[in-house]
Amino acid sequence: MSYQVLARKWRPQTFGEMVGQEHVTQTLSNALTRGRVAHAYLFTGPRGCGKTTMARLLAKALNCDEGPTPTPCGKCESCQAIASGSFLDVLEIDAASNTGVDNIRELRENAQYQPSAGKRRVFIIDEVHMLSKGAFNALLKTLEEPPEHVHFVFATTEPVRIPRTILSRCQRFDFRLFKLDELRQRIATIAKSESVDIDDEAIELLASMAEGSMRDALSLFDQAVSSSEGTLDKKGVVELYGLIGPERYLQLNDAILQRDTRAALDLVEELAQAGHDLVEFGRGLVGNFRDLLLLRLDAELAARVEKPEAVRKQMVEQASRFEVQDLLALTQRAADQYLLLERAPQPRWLLEAQVVEYSRLESQVLLSDILGRLDALGSGGPSQGAPSAPGGAGRAPGGGTPPKAAGRAKAAAKVATTTDMVAPSGPPPSQVAPPPSEIAPPPPSAAQDDFTSLPVETFQTESEAPPNIVAPEAGSQLDPQLREPYAKLLARAREENMGVGTCLLEAAPRLEGHTLVLTFRPEHAFHRDQVSDAATMRWLTSLASECFGQALEVSLVSDEPGAEEETMRKEVQREVAPSEKQELERHARNNPELGRLLEGLGGHVVDGE
Ligand SMILES: [Zn+2]
Repeated sequence: MSYQVLARKWRPQTFGEMVGQEHVTQTLSNALTRGRVAHAYLFTGPRGCGKTTMARLLAKALNCDEGPTPTPCGKCESCQAIASGSFLDVLEIDAASNTGVDNIRELRENAQYQPSAGKRRVFIIDEVHMLSKGAFNALLKTLEEPPEHVHFVFATTEPVRIPRTILSRCQRFDFRLFKLDELRQRIATIAKSESVDIDDEAIELLASMAEGSMRDALSLFDQAVSSSEGTLDKKGVVELYGLIGPERYLQLNDAILQRDTRAALDLVEELAQAGHDLVEFGRGLVGNFRDLLLLRLDAELAARVEKPEAVRKQMVEQASRFEVQDLLALTQRAADQYLLLERAPQPRWLLEAQVVEYSRLESQVLLSDILGRLDALGSGGPSQGAPSAPGGAGRAPGGGTPPKAAGRAKAAAKVATTTDMVAPSGPPPSQVAPPPSEIAPPPPSAAQDDFTSLPVETFQTESEAPPNIVAPEAGSQLDPQLREPYAKLLARAREENMGVGTCLLEAAPRLEGHTLVLTFRPEHAFHRDQVSDAATMRWLTSLASECFGQALEVSLVSDEPGAEEETMRKEVQREVAPSEKQELERHARNNPELGRLLEGLGGHVVDGE
């Protein structure tokens, strides 16, 4: 019994059947109608979006007994032979396995012959960017003077790797990924014709798993069909593919918004118990935050987020409770951490650390929010900032809502109102805009309460200020021969590989002859492991040699670092990766408004210089 995979069986046989890529089908149809088909086309775009299918359609349109025509009959010998891949005048070449100049020379000779069965000879070269330089040169000669009966269609996922000389001789079409809806409809159509009993949710899920690739959509569908008995539903698909359902991400978003570390950790536990691939979850997180970010930014961008309607609705709601910077930071962190997750010997531990971090991450947003407010105050003047709203009015939105909504966005909003009220008419001592107290300033205690109730450690009160903030400036007593080049090395490492660069922050450095010794505390074994593989060490060694201007070996040690090394570590870390707290202090030093605000609140700004 011959079984034909659905993707092949349902490959479009006419331009009309081609889903999506209308801009391409339209232009090609016009060219065929007018008899102005180019000798070389370049089809670019991600895999599975129909490039080779379109190339075969063009070959058919040119060779059909009724052709050239935009509507090949599909019945004549040529049409059928092309559809089955046995037509002598249509040659498909995979450049990935025929990269050499000889392959192309052979092709050039071949191209000289007149068509044997059809009207035109069509050469479809897939993954054309894989050709060698010599092969491209050989190809160029043919493209400069193509025989009248020859057409080339080049397909590639990486157009940037194609020489300009070739590009300039091709008519280029950029194929796009399929929309969720297009994939969904295609699966539904095929399911109906094949009498497959599948429900809408399952179709939706398969379509979204395909991430824009029609080929993937159909092969996922195919697999689901062949493994199912009876009705194919969402549950069946989830089980078959071991999928992590979208509700898991919604759950995590909620935990983050509510700063519920426990719930976030429970989620990881559940995923692990259910045997899910945690690295895959980490990958999904990047997409999750990215989608939230787009939903939060504006309606036009939101249209790019393709999710089942019910999920999308919830995500829109969640997105509205996040701050933009927040989502930006989360997306970036998730992307960095995914790279680490992929290589982690125990992904679960790292993922746990990750979700704990997310569910407690907040000062960054508040900081930027405060600074933004301060900027606005600086330019707009207090009259805007301190509206009539005395006492309760400003706080009402925060105070009145159910405790469950104590999300981060809420907290930020709270600061905002507080800042508005406090800064201009600032209660206690200092020289902030002296308050004409007639305009009923909020009772200082209320403002104070509001502020101290913030779930943030953004501000240091005098008593709490940890001693180490008063930085031993510029480490004058530290070895400058190590300090400067090492700081450079860390900065470069973070630029080139954020994941490894971040792990290196835990290393205490010292020089021993021509060896840079990096000591990791035993509890930072994980960080050391992330650096210790051969490829990373090679990279690090050459980076070190470059930054130190001499050939260096790098050696990783697991031990308690000596005092001097540890000071060096902290010092350099502060320079290349200041913590949020340090950032705030820096901002405070450069921003007199913030400084005064802090003073007014009994805060403490360290004079760093
Ligand atoms: Zn035909």
